[in-house]
Amino acid sequence: MNAPASERDRMFCAAYGCPLFGTFGSDGRWWCLCHFGRPASLNDAITAVLHSAACAPVVASTLDIRRAYGSFFDLPEVYRSIQKRLLEAGRADLLMSADERHSGGVRAWLMRLERVLIDMTAGVGTTHRLMATVPTAPIIGPTRAAAYLEHAKDEE
Ligand SMILES: [Zn+2]
Repeated sequence: MNAPASERDRMFCAAYGCPLFGTFGSDGRWWCLCHFGRPASLNDAITAVLHSAACAPVVASTLDIRRAYGSFFDLPEVYRSIQKRLLEAGRADLLMSADERHSGGVRAWLMRLERVLIDMTAGVGTTHRLMATVPTAPIIGPTRAAAYLEHAKDEE
């Protein structure tokens, strides 16, 4: 990206380090489809998933599509580089389908790729929520080492 910093900040998601464009406005800031509407406490975890090896090729492909959006079919090299990237990542299933090429076009394909990113980041935070609701046993017994380790008494 050669855009000036201010323009770059405006283009990208407001979550720190997020690689996606900000496409949803909220409270005067722009968020990507994965961060939008999620608790701020999950921002970094979601960003980490987007940078993961599984997500990164999909992220890069959606950015390429969005950048080339208006002239996508005039830029065969853009599709070829996306195709190469997705195939190398083992995601042939994410290439533009014949249906998408003939009906919805680039938009339908982009939406499918972005849906994949939403799904891949949707699980962020659920483990934490589960753990918070699973009852844990109360701590019983001595809480100080000295109670059961003779030598620990010397360290008190
Ligand atoms: Zn984001």
